[in-house]
Amino acid sequence: MTTSAPGVVNHPKSADYQRIATEEAFAPAEMLDIYRKILEKGDADPGFKGLMGFYMSSPSARAQHIMRCLTDLDQLRIQHMDECGIDKQVIALTAPGVQAMDKATAVSFSQVANDQLAEAVRKHPTRFVGMIAVAPQDPVAAAKEIERGVSKLGMNSVIINSHTHGEYLSDPKFWDIFAAAEAHDVPIYLHPNSLPANMIQPFQECGLDGAIYGFGVETGLHALRIITSGVFDRFPKLKMIIGHMGEALPFWIYRLDYMHRATVLSKRYDSMKPLLKKPSDYLRENFFITNSGVAWEPAIKFSQSVLGVDRVMYAMDYPYQYQVDEVIAMDNMSMSAEDKKKFFQTNAETVFKIR
Ligand code: CA
Repeated sequence: MTTSAPGVVNHPKSADYQRIATEEAFAPAEMLDIYRKILEKGDADPGFKGLMGFYMSSPSARAQHIMRCLTDLDQLRIQHMDECGIDKQVIALTAPGVQAMDKATAVSFSQVANDQLAEAVRKHPTRFVGMIAVAPQDPVAAAKEIERGVSKLGMNSVIINSHTHGEYLSDPKFWDIFAAAEAHDVPIYLHPNSLPANMIQPFQECGLDGAIYGFGVETGLHALRIITSGVFDRFPKLKMIIGHMGEALPFWIYRLDYMHRATVLSKRYDSMKPLLKKPSDYLRENFFITNSGVAWEPAIKFSQSVLGVDRVMYAMDYPYQYQVDEVIAMDNMSMSAEDKKKFFQTNAETVFKIR
């Protein structure tokens, strides 16, 4: 198994900006042990079995490579960053993180994972930035872990891997998490998870449940549920981040605004209450997006044009999508030097408080 990026032809040139990749993943070996136990019990949901059951047992070169890279927070990762010209990685516990675990295990392991990541950041302070993993299964404990992550571990963002056993953060029972994130002024990165049991079948039967499409649909749904449930009217300073070109939501803005207004006026659903602003206003004012997995200039420019150039950040999605040619393509985008620096560097420095 090569340790080089697939398709390495040349290195990215040095640039007058830093390349900060903002949706990069790691997996402690101890977490994989817990996953193995969940898989052995046999009652894990089909999405978890389909995702981690595959990556943890497949002999394919892609799966083996990903597992090896995920568990490294040291020289292998830095070697790959150097090969791709990545100055800094903003690193998060890979999906589903602790959210596949039972409540007690999730709460205790989130602390273990955060301590491990903080240690790696201390060892490589100019290369790594950490996100705080929390267990939504226990919102009060999650709020406390945000406090500990900020004040004790020096981390300035939170990772949540979409739904937790089929439950969504739009349910007010989770809102202690939003209160803590808003109070500490740290963004929540809403990253995909495998689809919940009651959604996966029509996706999985045709192989579309994963990163190809299902992840984006489900995470986009989750972000919309957070908007339409009134979370940002209750927590107006809350910041969220979504990857994969905003899970396509920028493209939906016109229809979302039109149909949200029409649906509210029709009083068709008790669950769809009036909001203080249009859905697109929250996308523009409370969300940042990254281009993780989407090294595609037209989509990046479209998102910059509808959300603003201060709202769109670079991400690689290491190790799942480790492609040096994509870094070169992003370097070569036809874009002003000022906007390119925002995309690669300064937006991330602001959002993640990187100093
Ligand atoms: Ca990812």
